[in-house]
Order: sequence, then structure tokens, then C-alpha cells
Amino acid sequence: MAKVTGGEILAKALKIEGVDTIFNLPGDPMGPIASATKPAGMKTYSFRHEQATALAAQAYAYATKKVGVGIVPSGPAMTNAITGLMTAWSGCLPLLLIGGNGDRARRFQGDFQEAPQVETAAPFCKWTASIEDPRHVPYYVNQAVRKIMHGRPGPVYLDMPANVIAGSVDEEQVKYFPAVEAAPRPMADPQSVKRAVEAISKAQRPLLLIGKGMAWSEAQDEIRQFVDRMQIPFVPSPMGKGVVPDDHALNAQGARTYALQNADLVILAGARSNWIFHFLSAPRFSPDVKVVQLDIDPSEIGNGHGVDVGLVGDGKAVFGQMLEEIGRVRRPIETPWLQALETEKEKNSDSIAPMVNSNDAPMNMYAMYREMTKMMARDATVTADGENTMALSRVMVPNYLPRHRIDAGESGCMGVSTPYAIGMQVARPGKQVFSFNGDYAFGWNGFEVETAARYNLPIIYVVANNVSVGGPGHAELGTRLESPEQPEGIHYDKVMEAFGGDGYFIERLDQVRPALEKALSAHKPSLLNVVIDKRQRRKEQAYTWMTSRTQRMQY
Ligand code: ADP
Repeated sequence: MAKVTGGEILAKALKIEGVDTIFNLPGDPMGPIASATKPAGMKTYSFRHEQATALAAQAYAYATKKVGVGIVPSGPAMTNAITGLMTAWSGCLPLLLIGGNGDRARRFQGDFQEAPQVETAAPFCKWTASIEDPRHVPYYVNQAVRKIMHGRPGPVYLDMPANVIAGSVDEEQVKYFPAVEAAPRPMADPQSVKRAVEAISKAQRPLLLIGKGMAWSEAQDEIRQFVDRMQIPFVPSPMGKGVVPDDHALNAQGARTYALQNADLVILAGARSNWIFHFLSAPRFSPDVKVVQLDIDPSEIGNGHGVDVGLVGDGKAVFGQMLEEIGRVRRPIETPWLQALETEKEKNSDSIAPMVNSNDAPMNMYAMYREMTKMMARDATVTADGENTMALSRVMVPNYLPRHRIDAGESGCMGVSTPYAIGMQVARPGKQVFSFNGDYAFGWNGFEVETAARYNLPIIYVVANNVSVGGPGHAELGTRLESPEQPEGIHYDKVMEAFGGDGYFIERLDQVRPALEKALSAHKPSLLNVVIDKRQRRKEQAYTWMTSRTQRMQY
């Protein structure tokens, strides 16, 4: 009777679920898995740190809507990946993390890298399990995929002790499960849909807040029709950008503060009332604002704020229901609300114009983005981290397609941009991927440019080098961590060159275009290390990130 190892069973079970790409960091006791996934036709990308493995896998999953699988060894290797579980948990991103562990027969006796991994992963996961027998592997994989992809997406951790990975059983004792079906699209209660449409139709100053749940739901066509027919202005979350193209006339991002503060009704669609949307609270929102909330997760409705109408269901399905309910109703194209937003947009655009149009050296970040975006395709994917680098990329770098931007989001995790870009480029071969990195943030996963170089992934890495942690505001408030000043002019470009990619040290704006022209035609990664004026300020913010009075986050 033919024998199969736990590793071979895992490879087959993953293949049934359509997995053809794996992100890993090789090491003991994962050998039998690696030996099985290759013959099963799976392409593996191996990283230099397990955090990056998990981050790349979730970005890939978000881009492709396939299961993103990260496989890491035991003990410290698995605990290194916990940050990736945290970002997936915090950001509602799909991820299957599989970790090795010590041999069960040596449990509690100090086996090599033995650790309480399931317990450690549990608070960050939709589900965790330890697989105790190779014959059970298909069941756990099937359940994991269902839990990751159905409902609100999120991470699952599966623990595989060494004896389960290497142990062999008779092939015919293994029962495989049919592939998990595509995620269902539950509809909202029709009565709630009716009430929502009534409330929206009555509002004088309605505003649609579009989150990444709408991108994940692929609700772009329905939302576009809804926006056009109801003439509702919208503000996307950073990762909700592109569900409706940023150049749509009703995009109120350019008047964000005014729009949030003056809306009398918001439709919170596939986004949470977290810090990114200021908890829907005063002073960033009107204290009387009415809230219609749409989410696939019933426990999210009304979380942290009151709600007037809750719509529990899938974004695409529920916007379809709303369109039917609206029928022929069309709101007038010209309203005082839309005119006020236009005026505010112009005011804001005028206020940043001197920075955007500046040709000074050293350059400011607005001007850097001005030059970069000239070279970006409409279907370019953007990853971002770094405090100012990420915040300004949201303002300055347009997105035209859903799921084409991924950043630190609610987790605020610095260092995500470098590995997220790898997951995105693997998902979208032949398409532009721009990874914007803060110079300090680059430190966390910067070594992964070696991974990008090893696989010839032509990612455009940009390090916005303003020699700072958290931007100038922190220093002024006395909250900058006590650390010696970094030297100016660190050559992050040489890090890329050391690994075989192309590096560019950019001190003037006229160097951006030629560098990007070369980078975009190279079949390998490039890193543009852009010297940014250390004294650069963002546009005066009505609400600062921190206040000097309390030195607490105010958002
Ligand atoms: P953002 O990062 O854009 O601010 P969040 O991560 O805060 O977005 O919120 C995403 C929300 O979208 C979550 O509450 C999640 O439950 C919800 N969501 C995920 N998938 C769907 C879907 N198919 N339909 C509706 N809501 C969804």
C-alpha cells in the first residue's frame, strides 16, 4: 500500500483549494512540505524574515482573491510571523499561516524550537488549530480556507508538529474534501434596505465612505451606479481608493475634513468606525450625523457609534438591492452641498499648490509624488508605509482600480510596504508595482529587496528619505524617541545594488523621470532613494495627528 507523508497530503489539499503559489521561509521541520509542493506544481517564494513571508502572502491574497499561504518553520520563525497575523487580523485581510512545531512525542520536554504557537496566534486569528495526525490535514485545510474566505476575510493559523509533517500513512486512509465554494453573497434584510434608501433620499448632505470591504466584495459597478444616480459624493478610506476611480467628479477626498464635518448622513460601506474614520465622532463629524452602515459582519454594525440603519450583507449584493429600491429616483446634479464641496476642494488644492509645484532642491514630498505619478499607469498597484510618506501618497497618488492600494491601515504597522509589494508583483506579473517607503520604515523589512531581486520582480521601490522618524511634528512636540540623529544621505540605493537590482540616488526633481524610465523597463527591482527636505511640513492640518496639550493621538 502506498504511503504518503503529512507534507505530501498538505500539498495535495492545498492544490484542491486552487493554491499554486506559496510564500515561505525554508527550515526545519518543513522539508517534507517543500519536497511535496514543488512536484505539485506550486511556485514558492522564499523570504529572509517570516514577518515578510506573512505580509507578502496576505497582499497576494488580497490582490488575487485566492488563498494566500505563508509557510514558516517553528519557534522563533513562527513568532516572527505573528506581526503578519496581526496586520491581517487588524486589516481584515485573508491569510493562511502554517507553522512547524516540535515533535509531539517530545512535547514539554524542550524539543528543538518547541513553542506554544497555537496559543500565541489565537488572539489574532479567526481560527487556530494544531493538526495531530497526517490523515486529518485535508479537513483542517478545507476548514481553514472556508473560515479565511467566507464572511469577513481574516487570518487562520495551522500548526503542524514535526511528526505530522514527516509522518507517513497509507494513502487510502486519507479523505480529501471538495474545494471550498466561492464566498456566498448574503443580501440584507429588504426592510432595512428600504429604510436606508429612504434616509439617504431625505438627507441634504449625504456622504458615502468607501472602505476596503467594498474592494474585496468587487462592488465597484454597483457603487459607481449608486454614486452617479444618487449624486452622492464619496470619500474613500486609503484602501477603499479605486473602487470608484479617484478622478470621478464626486470624489470629495480633496475636501475630506469639510465633507466629514458637514455631512448630515454618512453611509459607512465596508469600513469600520475606527481611527481611520475618526470613530465617526465629533469634532471630525457632526454630532448629529445619521449613519447607515453596511458590513458583512453583523458584530461590526454600530460598533463604537450609534447607527440609524444597519445593512448586514455582501457589499456587491446590497448595493444591487439599493439600486433596485432606488428605481428611477435621481437626485439633482447641482446641489448646494456639491457646490460647497467643489469650493472647498479648490481651496485645498490652492493651499498645497506652492508645495506641489515647487522645483526646489531638496524637494518636498508633494513635488516628489507629482513627478512620480506622471510615470504611473492607470492600473499601477501602490503599497505604502512611513507616516508622512503613506499619508501624502493617499492624497497625491491616484488609484483607478479596486484592490490596487495596500498600506499599514488600522494596524499602523511600519515596514509593510516592502513585502506587500512582493506579494502584489507576484499577483500581477507585467503590471507596475510602486512601493513607497518611509526611510525609517524601510528598516523593518528592507532586506527583502534581496527577495525581490532573487525573483527578478521589477518592483519600483521608493524610499522618501527625510532622515526622520515620524516627521518633524514629533520632534517639535518632544515626543520623538530618544535616539541619536541619523546621518543624512544614507545610500539605501546601494542596498538594492548589493543584491543585483538598480539603485538611484535622487537629489533633484529632474532626476526622477529618467530614473523611472530606466526602472520601468528593467526586468528587475529598482530602488529610488529620494532626498526629501528635512524641514518639509505637510499642509497645515485642521486636526493634527498629535496635540501638544495632551501628546496623545487625536486623529
Ligand atoms: P478600511 O481599511 O478601508 O478602512 P476596514 O478594514 O476598516 O476598511 O473595514 C473593512 C470592513 O469591510 C470590515 O468591517 C469587513 O467586515 C467588511 N467587509 C469585508 N468583506 C465584505 C463584503 N464582502 N461585504 C461587505 N463588507 C465586507
